[in-house]
Amino acid sequence: MKVYISIDMEGISGVVDWRQIGEDRDWGDYARFRALMAQDANAAIEGALEAGATGILVNDAHGSMRNLLITELHADAELVSGSPKRMSMMEGLDESFQAVFLVGYHSRAGSTGVLNHTYSGVLADCRFNGVAVGELGLNAALAGHFGVPVALVTGDDQVVREARSLLGEVETVTVKQALGRYAARCVHPDRTRTLIRGAAREALTRPARFRPYRPELPLEVQLTFHESGQADAAELLPGLERIGELTLAFRAPDPLWAYRTVRVALRLAAR
Ligand SMILES: [Zn+2]
Repeated sequence: MKVYISIDMEGISGVVDWRQIGEDRDWGDYARFRALMAQDANAAIEGALEAGATGILVNDAHGSMRNLLITELHADAELVSGSPKRMSMMEGLDESFQAVFLVGYHSRAGSTGVLNHTYSGVLADCRFNGVAVGELGLNAALAGHFGVPVALVTGDDQVVREARSLLGEVETVTVKQALGRYAARCVHPDRTRTLIRGAAREALTRPARFRPYRPELPLEVQLTFHESGQADAAELLPGLERIGELTLAFRAPDPLWAYRTVRVALRLAAR
């Protein structure tokens, strides 16, 4: 049984602010929080190993994607580090995996929750066939493209709510209760480690209850930006149509196509 772990940082135990999770905005906390990131990762890995996982691939999916120190990571896992990567937060995933864990995730742009956003700050809303999706939805759809279900989501209570509403049956761990975008009531990391480890083990003990997330194809994708200049720039990309003052739309034959197009559009818009 092969397990793929995509790990972000906003939903790691104790994190409530950008300054804790970006080396370029480090106020002295980054080293501590990247260590906590490794602890949440290792808890998920240990749970997976206890359930019989034989191969575990961890993809560092936050910012520079060089946050996890390989020496801090459990020796039975391999690490995908660095960026850019063709499949970004899901690089290295293919049909050979049986389950995806989304660890340290956050809620989507346009919702509430700690450090909510979707990829970059330019996006106000993203929809697949009219359904609002964030990084969780985009990455779950990409996993579904390869026939792999999301079995575990960890983060604040808002991303857990988003996961249940989008995916239905999924194992979850709430490591903090959001009190706003930059505040939360946090469970102690010693406690979240136990919870994540147990949930990972439980997820793989009964994996047949999880279904790959497969929105109907072709995908109708809508991207709404915060301001018109961002939409102007993203509109340079062929295939994107302006359907509103701040909104572009396109049709994608599959989630991988949608994923790559969204990422290029966001790169253009961020300029
Ligand atoms: Zn992140």
